[in-house]
Amino acid sequence: MPRLLPPPCRAAILAPMLLIRSPKRRRTVALEVQSDGTLKVTAPMRTSLAWINAFITEKAGWIARRQKAVRERTTRKPAPLAEGSLVPFMGHDLTLHLASTDQNEPPSCWHDKEKNELHLKLHPALPPQALQAEIRTELALWAKKQARAHLQERLAFWAERMELAPTRLILTDPRKRWGSCNAKNEIRINWRVIMAAPEVIDYLLVHELAHIPHKNHGRAFWALVRQYIPDLAARRSTLHRFEKSAFFDREG
Ligand SMILES: [Zn+2]
Repeated sequence: MPRLLPPPCRAAILAPMLLIRSPKRRRTVALEVQSDGTLKVTAPMRTSLAWINAFITEKAGWIARRQKAVRERTTRKPAPLAEGSLVPFMGHDLTLHLASTDQNEPPSCWHDKEKNELHLKLHPALPPQALQAEIRTELALWAKKQARAHLQERLAFWAERMELAPTRLILTDPRKRWGSCNAKNEIRINWRVIMAAPEVIDYLLVHELAHIPHKNHGRAFWALVRQYIPDLAARRSTLHRFEKSAFFDREG
């Protein structure tokens, strides 16, 4: 049986918390999720802690949604990319090196695999904001191309081993999903998975291929994944860590 997730731990969701006793004669308890995710509770002097706790528990769903929104807003903001920035790629951190193109030369990207360096040639004399946009566009173009080649090759490899026949591989761009397999057995993979190590990418491909015979996450589905990826738990958690990474992301 696949393990059932425990119910959400309310204490974990709500921490950290700030309790402020309102000096005025207010009768109601007010909740606010601050920009750093802290829950601010304003309560009258005489309201007991037990009552406040019960109130917070009752509002746990609302609080969790607000805290999630705050977290997403802060983690989504990408750090500016510059000379020496690290770019995650297939389990390595590539050091970014920037150079200018010659006149009329288009921008280009070159990966030095031995040194784990990424050399990006861009139009000279771009203002800072345009430069950021250009770096991100060129990096994404390059990474997408690498992703397509690698994913196609590995999908063919696993499809043959698992004796399964996906109809198509489609590279997608969603913010929240790594992959999916529909009723027509078309496999969609978020190209940003190219940030992760090859064994993590393999787990994602085996996972989606296993949806060809099993359109659910039931016992038979996980048994099939585990047959090819015995250490799937570790690879799965590594994959989910990349969800917070803003690399190869659009700005803003
Ligand atoms: Zn799935």
